[in-house]
Amino acid sequence: MSSSKTIQIPRGLKDILPDEQKYWFWLEKNFQDVAHLSGFERIILPAFEATELFKRSVGEFTDIVTKQMYTFKDLGGNSVTLRPEGTAGVVRAYLEHGMKVLPQPVKLYYWGPMYRYERPQSGRYREFYQFGMEMIGDMDPLTDALLIQSAARYYQKVGLKNLLVKINSLGTPKSRVKVVAVLEKYLSIHKKDLCPDCKLRLKKNVLRVLDCKVAKCKEITSETGHLIIDNLDTESKKRFTKVLEHLDEMKVPYELAPNLVRGLDYYTHTIFEIVTADDDTALGGGGRYDGLIKLLGGADTPAVGYAGGVERTIDALKKQEVLIPEMAKTDIFVVQLGERAKSKVVDLISQLEQIGLRVSSLMGKESIQTQLKAASDLNSPIALIIGDQEVHDRNVIMRDMHDRAQETVIDRNVVKMVMQKLEEKRFNF
Ligand code: AMP
Repeated sequence: MSSSKTIQIPRGLKDILPDEQKYWFWLEKNFQDVAHLSGFERIILPAFEATELFKRSVGEFTDIVTKQMYTFKDLGGNSVTLRPEGTAGVVRAYLEHGMKVLPQPVKLYYWGPMYRYERPQSGRYREFYQFGMEMIGDMDPLTDALLIQSAARYYQKVGLKNLLVKINSLGTPKSRVKVVAVLEKYLSIHKKDLCPDCKLRLKKNVLRVLDCKVAKCKEITSETGHLIIDNLDTESKKRFTKVLEHLDEMKVPYELAPNLVRGLDYYTHTIFEIVTADDDTALGGGGRYDGLIKLLGGADTPAVGYAGGVERTIDALKKQEVLIPEMAKTDIFVVQLGERAKSKVVDLISQLEQIGLRVSSLMGKESIQTQLKAASDLNSPIALIIGDQEVHDRNVIMRDMHDRAQETVIDRNVVKMVMQKLEEKRFNF
């Protein structure tokens, strides 16, 4: 039986309406610019993969795999999973397309939706967007620092202030074995006070206990900080110091976060999060994953990556009241005053349209104020004003709609000057 009740969006999802688009354009465009400047190339990956890929890479006992994956059998009976994160897919593609023959490190970036069945709350969705950068094939500590620098640069470029990198090291898999043993010993003493999830984690994946948000567990783990760093082997400690020295040289502000472990199993050595220092919100995080490529069937290959949340970044921009350029709905607005101006305007519009610009105008008898208001309603970066005088003098008035500065441009230079002005403004999305 059909029902006329309206259907609503599933819990934890959201529509991104036209009003919000300026943030999305601003973040995506700047991400591409920063990534290209730092030598990253774009990769677009499928939104779902074989379930086994995430089980093996993210880790069998992580929250993501045990509780948050959208896994289903397709009509052919294959188990597939909507991607909960981007790195696993990038590594699969690196292996599948034989990218190890390319000059290393291979530097790839992505942008797209991720899916996790989480409890919806403010800033936490079941479909959310991440942007990420991966550098595969280079073990040098400088690589870690360069990646962190690129991520920090991006946030600065979009206008965020007060950024801080929180950083820690998990060392080599070998020193991790020791860290795990020490942590198991320490936390077993407090087992009875741990939450039920952490009691399980104690057996299966003790590092995850340090990630737990339950107050009592946090109280217990506040004492564990030094245990990770103290138990790393000398090589791992040395390597970590090198990364920090490079960050100092690059003047990237960081803070040691001795309890930071991150929610995915594949990390080794450097792990980090970037937060806004005002309220300690994680904008994103990343780290080194030297074991992952081998784990997924490739040769032993070092790698490091970062993923940031788009929605979280937008929230931070709003909180910090960062001014985002309005999206122009037109490139140029042509204002005409008087009958003689009209025929010149028609000719000019056609010239501008021929070079691919979006041109708007009002062709009635409206006043200059009405026409300029229309131009600003469309967020036009430039207006060209033509009256009888300009027809006679063979020129036009070019008005910058943001700072209202006006200049006179002779007819034969109009197209060139318009292009120059738009390029200067660079916000013609
Ligand atoms: P992760 O992949 O868990 O390290 O997350 C990296 C970043 O993605 C986080 O710092 C958030 O900015 C964002 N993120 C993760 N999960 C969600 C979610 N459920 N909703 C919105 N953003 C998220």
